[in-house]
Amino acid sequence: MPSKPPVHRPPGTTGNRQQQRRLYDQARDTQPWRRWYKTARWQATREAQLIAEPLCRKCKNKGILTPATVCDHVERHNGNPALFWFGPFQSLCPPCHSSDKQREENGDL
Ligand SMILES: [Zn+2]
Repeated sequence: MPSKPPVHRPPGTTGNRQQQRRLYDQARDTQPWRRWYKTARWQATREAQLIAEPLCRKCKNKGILTPATVCDHVERHNGNPALFWFGPFQSLCPPCHSSDKQREENGDL
């Protein structure tokens, strides 16, 4: 009996299942993307951003020159890999970064 030829499944056929799986994983570990910050890849991304923009963008907008140490996501990535890894990013100093995040949490942005 001839065996069936392998069925070619175009990309996206299993998308729903993968998406459900991803949502399930996210629910199990509330913020899995937190681990992405510990990767060598993120360190390289952060370095590249800080080299490209060495001064805090928010301070610079106020006319103050402050060295930036934080690579911040301009858009909230919420675990979206495309936004997390490819930005857009902005360089911030720690005070600007934390005040920004607090405003975001208060729904003030
Ligand atoms: Zn700043």
